[in-house]
Amino acid sequence: MYHVLMPADSALPKVKISPRGATRLKAGHVWVYKSDVLAPDGVAPGSLVTVTDQRGKLLGTALYSSSSQIAIRVISSEPVSDFLALLRRRVSDAIAYRAKFVSDSDAYRIVFSEADFLPGLIVDRYNDILSLQILTQGMDANPIRETIIYQLTEELKPVSVIERVDPRVRELEALPPRSSGLLLGDMTATTFAMNGVQFHFDALEGQKTGAFLDQRENYAAVVRYARGEALDVFCYQGGFALHLASVCDQVTGVDSSRPALEVADQNATLNGRDIEWIEANAFDLLKDYAASNRRYDAIVLDPPAFAKTKRDLDAAIRGYKELNLRALKMLRPGSILVTCSCSYHVSEPDFLEMLGSAALDAHRTLRLIEVRGQSKDHPVLLNVPETSYLKCVISSVS
Ligand code: SAH
Repeated sequence: MYHVLMPADSALPKVKISPRGATRLKAGHVWVYKSDVLAPDGVAPGSLVTVTDQRGKLLGTALYSSSSQIAIRVISSEPVSDFLALLRRRVSDAIAYRAKFVSDSDAYRIVFSEADFLPGLIVDRYNDILSLQILTQGMDANPIRETIIYQLTEELKPVSVIERVDPRVRELEALPPRSSGLLLGDMTATTFAMNGVQFHFDALEGQKTGAFLDQRENYAAVVRYARGEALDVFCYQGGFALHLASVCDQVTGVDSSRPALEVADQNATLNGRDIEWIEANAFDLLKDYAASNRRYDAIVLDPPAFAKTKRDLDAAIRGYKELNLRALKMLRPGSILVTCSCSYHVSEPDFLEMLGSAALDAHRTLRLIEVRGQSKDHPVLLNVPETSYLKCVISSVS
């Protein structure tokens, strides 16, 4: 007797991809670029589709975007018969993963898009408030939003859920405009804690709400080594500075954003810390301080991404080198340098090479103490290199 295996998703629209696209998926990646999609005529934006090779062989089930360069984002390597049930399971799995790997914090990323097989969805938890971002056509449909929010609230019982909208992302995905705001409940502000340090969170105020949760474990690492006088450059709302204040005699935080420094100052008060905040361009300030012979026992450099695209790589490396060179000149023998890059396009080897070259130019010896990445609530999917972006190198300087 023969069993004919019928794919359960035979009703889904089919999208054929080129051999190059198929090779990519077979290597464990989850994206197929627009140029590798063969004639997706008539497939509605944001549809769940069956992806096949040129001969019609199933490669997976994916969300389709009609406008993004990334046309296909695989959600399962198998046929999917009940998409909403799969979404609920994926959200539940993501929550369980954090329960295993996050400690000492009530703020962390619950869903990290591709890394949780929920491409286009980001959910952050700030104590009792959840903050959600939708980045693709596929995740924007109402039944999908409702299912995700249902599962999140079932398991986590937040007081509020807010949505943060990036208008540029909606434009790129050809989605109708939408504003940031509450999706559930009416509380928009709270406080949260990581590694015993308290922070204010205001979902709808300020330049950018929330924190750089991807640095959470790096904050804890820095506390192990930094002592004496510390300088946190690009301090934002004080993530590193507040942690440094628990082990250092004096801490100064520098940022060009006044609203960020105002929150940083409120955070210092919340923790009973006395930290000096300076509103300045980091490049200028480091130059002035180096010229006036300021010296530190610990310096943190955590600039915004210098390389937004591959084309920016050379300029980005020059920017990182200039910053690191300046910082190295101000560090006392036996001090600690913490230097970060959140540019995906600057690889870890590139970043270490830049740092080595800065050390040579500054006539300093660097010993690597820890070469770190993003916190474990921002998982790196091994065969999807784009999920790994943060570098945080802690070294001893002599
Ligand atoms: N270290 C922070 C995150 C830094 S994000 C944390 O752990 O929370 C990058 C910060 O750099 C932003 O706050 C931004 O305002 C600041 N910034 C960008 N360009 C700058 C410049 N030229 N000089 C000083 N700060 C700058």
